[in-house]
Formats: sequence, structure tokens, C-alpha cells
Amino acid sequence: MIRVTSLDKRFGDNHVLRNINFEVEQGDVVAIIGSSGSGKSTLLRCLIDLEQADGGTIMIEDKALVKDGVQAPPAEVKKIISRMGVVFQHFNLFPHLSVKKNLQLAPKIVAKEDKGRIEADTKKLLEEVGLSDRIDAMPSTLSGGEKQRVAIARALMMNPDIMLFDEPTSALDPELTGEVLKVMGDLAKAKMTMIVVTHEMGFARSVANKILFMNDGIILEEGTPDDIFNHPKNERTREFLASIT
Ligand code: ATP
Ligand code: MG
Repeated sequence: MIRVTSLDKRFGDNHVLRNINFEVEQGDVVAIIGSSGSGKSTLLRCLIDLEQADGGTIMIEDKALVKDGVQAPPAEVKKIISRMGVVFQHFNLFPHLSVKKNLQLAPKIVAKEDKGRIEADTKKLLEEVGLSDRIDAMPSTLSGGEKQRVAIARALMMNPDIMLFDEPTSALDPELTGEVLKVMGDLAKAKMTMIVVTHEMGFARSVANKILFMNDGIILEEGTPDDIFNHPKNERTREFLASIT
């Protein structure tokens, strides 16, 4: 579904991603873990063209977003990334729009979808994230956890094939983290393909089927949760896990 080969990214002299290789299969939940500055966000951003790779290949569903360091033409890039939903740390809801309008803006403008279907999807997805009663609320009246669940529902409105999350719970108080992780766990159960950058080791261990440990711009270790958490091969992986758990 996603195949990244020899991906390279530099910011000036800072070689941020160095020869990154990994694959994501349909239905995979891939957790990307690693210390601050190791390149996790940059990697995720390369997958959705928020950063452009300097070298390597990113294949998404048999289409090349980047091939040997060369970006696909803009129209092709747009088409490829339109199949991916993204949720960031800071919700990024439109503050002047109600929950309902936040969900409906993109489908109405971008996809020009059928109105009845948009209404039905709005109701269904808000129910799935447990926010049916907040459909007319403004973002400023929601808790952080509620905002993040709206952001997830909004991404799902576009019916993505893949969901990407960059530390979706890092800005939340601990007591609000659980409700967001539950929604993400439900998505995983529904077989959504997901890539999740996270510091939530409990989530990575219990929901992900594949863990990538990034260190200083490389994937230092990759494996199942059992491999990484119970039998880490690398000293650096052990140190990281000891520091975070
Ligand atoms: P964190 O856990 O703190 O979010 P991260 O693993 O997501 O860290 P990145 O944000 O990918 O790390 O950053 C990797 C490196 O790239 C860092 O050295 C960072 O300073 C640098 N970097 C990231 N974005 C930019 C940018 N837009 N311009 C220049 N340097 C950048
Ligand atoms: Mg980051």
C-alpha cells in the first residue's frame, strides 16, 4: 500500500532522513516511535507532500509520489494525497466554523459530493467518535480531546484509504488522551490502515502490529510490538524505551 525506498531529506546541512526504507500493507497499524528530533514528523510530512524528499521513492498504492527524488506532477501529487487523511497534534479545526461545518467543508468544496451523503456521513462519523450531541458546537467550546475527535471525524469525511497521525494526543491532558486513543483503536479494529507517530507506548504495544524505532534520521529497528518492547536488539532502542516507559 505504501512502499518507501531509500528516502532522503535534508534541511540545509541537517541530514534529517537517511536512507529510510519501510512498507505498509493494507490494514497495518504502524507506530513510529523515537526521540525528539529523530525525524518522525518529517517522514510523515514527506508522505503527504508537506515536505519534498531529496532522494528516494515513495510509492502509494502503486503510484509514485516521488521517484528517485523527483516529485510527481502537481495534479498527480494532489490525487495521490487526497486518499490520505491526516491528524496533527494541534487539531487545526477552523475556529470560525461549527463542528458540522468543519466536517463538511472539504467534502463540499473539494469532492463536490452528494448533499444527502454528506449529511449522513457527518451524523455517522460524529456518532463513531462519540460527539453526536456537539454537532452545532463551535470549536472554542470543546475540550482538547473533543477537538481531536472532531479532527479525526473530519479527516474520515473524505473516506481516506490511509490515516496518518502525528502525536495526536501530545497536546492533551492525560485524562483526555484515553478518549482519543479509543477512537483510534476503534479505527484500527475497523481495519483502517494507519501510520501513527506517538509517544503512547501502551497504544503502540496494544494496537499497532508494526513498530518503527527512529533514531537520528534512520529506522534503527523495526518489528512487531513483541520484538521491539520485549526483545529490543539495539542498545539505543533499550535506552529510549527505558526513558519513556
Ligand atoms: P518531535 O518528537 O520533537 O516531534 P521529530 O522526530 O518529529 O521530533 P522532526 O520534526 O522530523 O523530528 O525534525 C527532525 C529534524 O529536522 C530536527 O533536527 C528539526 O530541527 C529539523 N527540521 C524539521 N522541520 C524543519 C524545517 N521545516 N526546517 C528546518 N529544519 C527542520
Ligand atoms: Mg514531530
